[in-house]
Amino acid sequence: MPQADLYVSSRGEAPRLGFSNTLFAGLAADGGLYVPEVWPTLPPAIRAPLPYAEAAQAVMLPFVGDDIAPDVLARLVTESYSTFDHAEVAPLVEIGHDEWLLELFHGPTLAFKDLALQLLGRFFDHFLGERQSRVTIIGATSGDTGSAAIHAFRGRDNLDIFILHPEGRVSEVQRRQMTTVVDANVHNIAIDGTFDDCQALVKAMLADVRFRGDLNLSAVNSINWARIMPQIVYYITAAAALAGRGPVTFAVPTGNFGDVYAGYAAQRMGLDVARLIVATNRNDILARALADGDYHVGEVAPTMSPSMDIQVSSNFERLLFELYDRDSTKICALMAELVADGGFTIARPQLTRAQHIFSAARVDEEQTLATMAEVHGATGLLVDPHTAVGICAGRGQREPGSPLVILSTAHPAKFPEAVERATGRRPEPPPALAAGLAGEERCDSLPRDPAQVQAYIRAKATL
Ligand SMILES: *Cc1c(COP(=O)(O)O)cnc(C)c1O
Repeated sequence: MPQADLYVSSRGEAPRLGFSNTLFAGLAADGGLYVPEVWPTLPPAIRAPLPYAEAAQAVMLPFVGDDIAPDVLARLVTESYSTFDHAEVAPLVEIGHDEWLLELFHGPTLAFKDLALQLLGRFFDHFLGERQSRVTIIGATSGDTGSAAIHAFRGRDNLDIFILHPEGRVSEVQRRQMTTVVDANVHNIAIDGTFDDCQALVKAMLADVRFRGDLNLSAVNSINWARIMPQIVYYITAAAALAGRGPVTFAVPTGNFGDVYAGYAAQRMGLDVARLIVATNRNDILARALADGDYHVGEVAPTMSPSMDIQVSSNFERLLFELYDRDSTKICALMAELVADGGFTIARPQLTRAQHIFSAARVDEEQTLATMAEVHGATGLLVDPHTAVGICAGRGQREPGSPLVILSTAHPAKFPEAVERATGRRPEPPPALAAGLAGEERCDSLPRDPAQVQAYIRAKATL
């Protein structure tokens, strides 16, 4: 019988795995992404507001199955979210008529990545303790994943973590949040290239069977199912808080399609979602793909919202898998076309299906600045440029009669230059951030050459 705690690869060639092995695998051995064999149904109690940690346990329990005992899951979840500086963890703030920000930046590194990575760090620690083994964690970051992962994994003695970021293409705050962490198990690598280059290096290392085996490699990018799972929770708590106002529309600032895919998962589990609005900056491959089926990779253009400066959206493969009725042969063919020709076209019936739930909009730099200024003028609130992309797209695409929830993915103090440029006001860094940014930076620069990156990691990893 199909089970939610068993995972299948979108490319159909890798073995089905349970939750903990899926966590350690990251990417499937056939290059595909793991998804649950079936979508579990939300328990009825979750439709009413619950404390965040309780909601998180209820949502995640069917996905972890027997791999984690319920009381252990409860402890890991409670510990993870007690690192947040807001009691509600992911509070809603009204910014207009039936229009809300879902603040996801109250964790240790001030971006929504903390909601998943705080938990991921504890899952790894728990399973490594059980198995008496150690791993080498690798990850590519466009800015926020790196710091969230480093803060979740620092100082743990059963693993090393290597984070690749595109040199000169992350904000100073983002860089310092990574490079000022000097624990011996933390290794920062600046790659001479873009985020897509970093992500390609990570995927290549995972696909190299010998290297992967020698280093006991694991990945913490949102290609890892355990990154997606905790993100389903806040769609559900937000909808519960707004119960009675009708199905919610979510606007989601999007790069790698992980966060908005979690919204899709919530819908598949039975959440009454009116629409998911995919908000992109001028790196708009997803907006194009969802408008007319054209998924063709362009050049990455740097923007004020660097965490979305992505062309190859890895998690889109998970959606394609569903749109094509889990036909992994078809997914393999599309992915081969992507490699060979730089893109593919989504067929009409599948596109129509996607458009049933997803809308998309591209927001340019001027609109991003104007939105930050407008929100500040109307409410006094400062919002970060990623959130502004979400607000602008959400307002443009929303439907009457449905409350609009915009995912606020980063604290404005992570992007002070952009916020000041738009509003004339420099956001105050929370005390924890200010303290964390001081100190010496530690980071090595490498070319985008798989052999050199692998040699570096072999030399530095403790095995
Ligand atoms: C990572 C990130 C995004 C994009 O999320 P995806 O899951 O990659 O789509 C948006 N905003 C911020 C601030 C981020 O850090």
